[in-house]
Amino acid sequence: MREKQKKTVKTIKIDLDKCNGCRACEVVCSAFHAKPKYSSNNPARSRIRLIRDPLKDVYLPVYAGEYAPAECAGRSSYVIDGKEYTSCSFCRASCPSRDLFKEPDSGLPLKCDMCEDADDPQKEPLCVQWCITGALTYEEQEVEVEEVAEEGKLGEVELGFEKLVDKFGMQKVLDTMARKLNKG
Ligand code: SF4
Ligand code: SF4
Repeated sequence: MREKQKKTVKTIKIDLDKCNGCRACEVVCSAFHAKPKYSSNNPARSRIRLIRDPLKDVYLPVYAGEYAPAECAGRSSYVIDGKEYTSCSFCRASCPSRDLFKEPDSGLPLKCDMCEDADDPQKEPLCVQWCITGALTYEEQEVEVEEVAEEGKLGEVELGFEKLVDKFGMQKVLDTMARKLNKG
């Protein structure tokens, strides 16, 4: 039987009316996740991206969610306060149909980790701290969830491995790993 458990869910509330398109959130996110940390910034490596169309006054920050191996079948469009958005604009997935939320060199999916780093803990996610207009607000909620068996969870390493196999094929990945192991 599946057991219910209390869990703290971290969320970032986005207020579109307050976003001015400055992209500070993208800069700080990519710098925080650079290796070494803060050594560079590149919005293409950010786990939050700004969907923007200045001529239509559209500024929509979206932060990266789960990896999706296939693109979805349908598309919708939404008109909100007279501005038009596609369903892709709101989607948080790293998926094959667009370049968002993919590490530019490797193509591996990027996912927001809420700036969790035991060696460099943050009182709030950095994109929230750097958003001086208040468009991003950090919230924690207690929710009840069904516990998922440990073996059913896909960790970051497994996810990356699956993506590499999708992209290059199992044999090439295994050959590369064997070469690396022989060198090391
Ligand atoms: S830092 Fe805030 S105002 Fe600037 S682009 Fe990001 S969400 Fe918008
Ligand atoms: S919470 Fe941290 S990891 Fe997530 S988008 Fe914001 S800066 Fe990036």
